[in-house]
Amino acid sequence: MSAALRAQKLSRSFTSRAVDGFTGAVGNTPLIHLKKLSEKTGCNIIGKAEFQNPGGSVKDRAALGVVRDAEERGLLKPGGTVVEGTAGNTGIGLAHVCRARGYKCVIFMPNSQSQEKIDLLRMLGAEVYPVPAVAYENPKNYNHQARDFAKSLPNSIWTDQFDNTANANAHYLSTGPEIWEQTGGQVDGFICATGTGGTLAGTGRYLKEKSDGKTQVWLADPPGSVLYSYISSGGKLTERSGGSITEGIGQGRITNNLGTFVKDVDGAFSIPDTESIEMVYDLLDGEGLYLGASSALNVVAAVKLAQQLGPGKTIATILCDGAYRYQSRLFSKEWLKAKGLEDAIPLHLKKYAVL
Ligand code: PMP
Repeated sequence: MSAALRAQKLSRSFTSRAVDGFTGAVGNTPLIHLKKLSEKTGCNIIGKAEFQNPGGSVKDRAALGVVRDAEERGLLKPGGTVVEGTAGNTGIGLAHVCRARGYKCVIFMPNSQSQEKIDLLRMLGAEVYPVPAVAYENPKNYNHQARDFAKSLPNSIWTDQFDNTANANAHYLSTGPEIWEQTGGQVDGFICATGTGGTLAGTGRYLKEKSDGKTQVWLADPPGSVLYSYISSGGKLTERSGGSITEGIGQGRITNNLGTFVKDVDGAFSIPDTESIEMVYDLLDGEGLYLGASSALNVVAAVKLAQQLGPGKTIATILCDGAYRYQSRLFSKEWLKAKGLEDAIPLHLKKYAVL
């Protein structure tokens, strides 16, 4: 056999098992059984390992979903620019997808976000504009600035992750089916926090449809978000006040992605920062998982849902991203002190705060 033929054969057998570039590697993440918490609750607590996506977070799915949708609708053309307002992870996903598919990427983000995320976006070739972290009602809000910038730039689109339902649809088409298949359809509860609401609504809607409504879908909310009180009051929207250390989640309105699904949500928990930060350390110590604060908040909420639904149930949640993106904050003694959270870390876990 000639060398050329051998190389061709080798390449064929290699590519047959290879996925198609960055975008082909998005999704199909493992489900992790959280042993200690499952033992503690008598339930199966399982986390979808979204930190294993190639861009490092659950938002890779949404980023790919909105770009694909814009391509299919003929809105995004070769050499075009993708503009988005994002707290970071959607931007990171978009920056990867744009590099992989030959688009430019411009990101507007609130200046309250970690430096790691800004640096990474720039390293991925995105143009980043940190803007004052003001409320959605303010025209200077990062989303409105992204929309206006895209309007002013030829051959560009604003992907509008909060209200573009291609986001929730990406989860309806991937996260939901994966969890259903990986659990053999045995999923009694699904719970996660929302930023855009895409993960909760897309995954939740799929699981409810497949289970004929038997899977309970609950929302986990950080302080400073209005959704917990909206759901527990039966639909009263209150003013947003306060904040949380959990980046990328919490919401002041009903986005299009959450949309009418919010009426199908079975219940909600509000999770204080003290419990989320303790779980960041607990997951590291007990399960060897190095996860961001929104993942930790989701796991705290999954434990509460397990207690609510009773022993023997399977509760799924989302492990959104790794702690790498926030380590200068979450593992810094000074930062914990500044946030009044040093006492939230039990003595035996304090050794992990090494910065
Ligand atoms: N966790 C993290 C770390 C995030 O960045 C986000 C999205 N901003 C979420 C959770 C929430 O996901 P979604 O936008 O699908 O509600």
